[in-house]
Amino acid sequence: MKILVVGGAGYIGSICAELLLDEAHEVAVFDNLTEGHRRAVDDRATFIEGDLSDQKKIEAALSSMRPDAVMHFAANALVGESMRDPSKYFRNNVANGVNLLDAMVATGVQRLIFSSTCAIFGLPERAPIDETSPPRPINPYGESKLAFEKILRWYDQIHGLRFVSLRYFNAAGASANFGEDHRVETHLIPNVLKVALGQKPHVEIYGADYETPDGTCIRDYIHIIDLARAHILALGAPRSEFYNLGTGGGSSVREVIAACRKITGRKIDIVEKPRRPGDPARLIASSEKIKRELGWQPTFQSLKPIIESAWRWHQKFPSGYGD
Ligand code: UDP
Repeated sequence: MKILVVGGAGYIGSICAELLLDEAHEVAVFDNLTEGHRRAVDDRATFIEGDLSDQKKIEAALSSMRPDAVMHFAANALVGESMRDPSKYFRNNVANGVNLLDAMVATGVQRLIFSSTCAIFGLPERAPIDETSPPRPINPYGESKLAFEKILRWYDQIHGLRFVSLRYFNAAGASANFGEDHRVETHLIPNVLKVALGQKPHVEIYGADYETPDGTCIRDYIHIIDLARAHILALGAPRSEFYNLGTGGGSSVREVIAACRKITGRKIDIVEKPRRPGDPARLIASSEKIKRELGWQPTFQSLKPIIESAWRWHQKFPSGYGD
């Protein structure tokens, strides 16, 4: 198939593009490089530098490539930033996303895989979280993704645009070539590995007084390769759908740090800090629906292979993509 990967120079998009290319699909990457990196674009892909605020540019890319599907990863994704600058999130994740949908309608491209998030659920009533859980976001980031999911339903009904929305839990790990390099790193695993590499003095634990067995937040870490595989399966989905995507297991912040100590063999100091606003105590996915309907299965069920892959990547590229 021919796939346009919008936001394909970012962490998740770059690895999805790589997997698509490994499976002999044709890939073009459209990215504005504000969060993404030119070096995260696989050499086998065509690269188009562009921003979704420029509808003409995305339309031109779609007209020239005529893809069978679009994968849409181009979004801002930091909860804390969204609480300070909601406009950025609604403008980029919603308004610019609508430009993409309109460009698809204008050029007759009818299939979209959308990168959504468990942040649409807010403070969940239960764990694991399945697709029947009520979406009640508690920050503009989650709200912007939920708004876009609702818009997708209407574009399906009115324009016949078929979509699959994948709500990721905590994407982590790396492929051999591509990994996680955010210019401002807020994520737990890369921050812990930076301490292991000697690039940071200690890891900050945001909250040690949660109602969890060790007092720290529990998250469902899913290997980026398993996540990328779900996107490829979603290309064959028979109808528009929403799927939660995690492993169904949970690890606390302290467990992640302990696993990093064991895998790296390095000393990793911690400092306990207050809670980070907007962090639910426990987020665990039920992925039964995508398993049942699309036959997805996570290959990596524990933290170990996730952290090992991330550690290999960070050792190979200690300065990330270097930009
Ligand atoms: N966290 C932490 N220290 C860090 C980064 C994250 O204690 O340096 C915690 C954070 O509060 C959350 C968990 O680790 O409970 C996962 O955070 P991350 O930012 O990786 O992902 P999120 O769950 O926010 O998408």
